[in-house]
Amino acid sequence: MKFGRYGGLFVPETLVQPLLELAGAYEQMKNSDEFHRELKNLLKNFAGRPTPLYYARNLSRELGRKIYLKREDLVHGGAHKLNNTLGQGLVAKRMGKTRLIAETGAGQHGVATAIVGANLGFETQIYMGEVDIERQKMNVYRMQLMGAEVIPVRSGSRTLKDAINEAMRDWASTFEHTHYLLGTAAGAHPFPSMVRDFQSVIGEEARRQISEAEGRLPDSIVACVGGGSNAMGIFAPFLKDRVRLLAVEAGGRGPGKTDKIADNGASLGYGTDGVLHGALTKILQDPYGQILESYSVAAGLDYPGVGPELAYLAETGRVHPRMADDKAAIRGFRALSRFEGIIPALESAHAIGYAMSEPEALGELTIINVSGRGDKDLATVMEYENS
Ligand SMILES: *Cc1c(COP(=O)(O)O)cnc(C)c1O
Repeated sequence: MKFGRYGGLFVPETLVQPLLELAGAYEQMKNSDEFHRELKNLLKNFAGRPTPLYYARNLSRELGRKIYLKREDLVHGGAHKLNNTLGQGLVAKRMGKTRLIAETGAGQHGVATAIVGANLGFETQIYMGEVDIERQKMNVYRMQLMGAEVIPVRSGSRTLKDAINEAMRDWASTFEHTHYLLGTAAGAHPFPSMVRDFQSVIGEEARRQISEAEGRLPDSIVACVGGGSNAMGIFAPFLKDRVRLLAVEAGGRGPGKTDKIADNGASLGYGTDGVLHGALTKILQDPYGQILESYSVAAGLDYPGVGPELAYLAETGRVHPRMADDKAAIRGFRALSRFEGIIPALESAHAIGYAMSEPEALGELTIINVSGRGDKDLATVMEYENS
């Protein structure tokens, strides 16, 4: 429930019961062979797992070390997010829930939830800030095609953090039949541990695959961090090993900074202790404790907090927080496209951009988690390069 002093269950009383009910149900399912069989079957035949661990020989030559890519961009839906939504969808189903609600910022988690809603037969409603709905029309349409309803959120900054608040409000009065499907390894207990567990399939596969390919574990692993689910997913099975774990946050903003907007999404690097969405963690806040709006060219890294387990692992020194700014991310985006014929998500491009800027930190053998594919980002990159 806690990771050092981080984590916990800092929620209004109305949310304690659904959270504890969920924690209890998940604890039981964790030990159920039947649950794992069903999940494994969906991960294999629906999501397309295992994903390859690809030796990037051109990028390796360029950086003078062996670089492997964990190809989460090949998961159905185009990112690692489905690992978590499938897992939670099955939990909800077994708990007898008939409705899913979720928050979404860029729309990627909303789409991954809509996929599961359609496939497992839930009524699905997605909370999304009005500003984000305008910015992410394609994802709104994808969700609707798959039968989900998108509910506009008009409170606050009308973006991701407000959508989470609305979803939590909904859940407090509907939990009897509704599951709240949180999209990253953050929030109140049990979400950080549960989401990490569902994403750990990334690291478990990678561990097997690198051992087979190289006969040893890597010197380092690089992953980008929004809330921390793809990073925790690939890190978790390596926590006890001598492997350098590098967590790359969005570290940069161009022009237009105001007092209400942090100039980055770097909660591990620049955040301070505070409570966000039910957990004590590191967050971007003003001197009065008001949440700052985060900024990154990659919408999926745009969360003003970070999961409590990563906050803890960074504090103990087990995970090393690093930063890549917009420019480094665009460089990584172009490099992977050009060198390997793989267009990464702008989020993942932060991990690549960091690796390119500090190759010495990687050691001789590294794995970079390519958390998603970049088709969704083409317009953003074209606009960035023309500005
Ligand atoms: C959502 C997203 C992220 C950030 O979320 P985490 O929970 O930090 O993994 C990273 N990469 C891609 C492709 C995403 O869609």
